[in-house]
Amino acid sequence: MLLLKTCPRCRGDLHLRSDLDGKFLSCIQCGYARDLPGKTATPKEKPAVLRGRPPAEAHAV
Ligand SMILES: [Zn+2]
Repeated sequence: MLLLKTCPRCRGDLHLRSDLDGKFLSCIQCGYARDLPGKTATPKEKPAVLRGRPPAEAHAV
């Protein structure tokens, strides 16, 4: 879904997208991103693997 000429930064076109955090608007032209208001609670925890950091306990032994 496109919202034409609604970007507050560059008056570009906002594209409705969604990821693990929920839905958000991102500008095609300048990359501006804004979370959609409303449901922001995320019941699911992000997997730590995606952060690229090994667990600290690994070197304890
Ligand atoms: Zn923009």
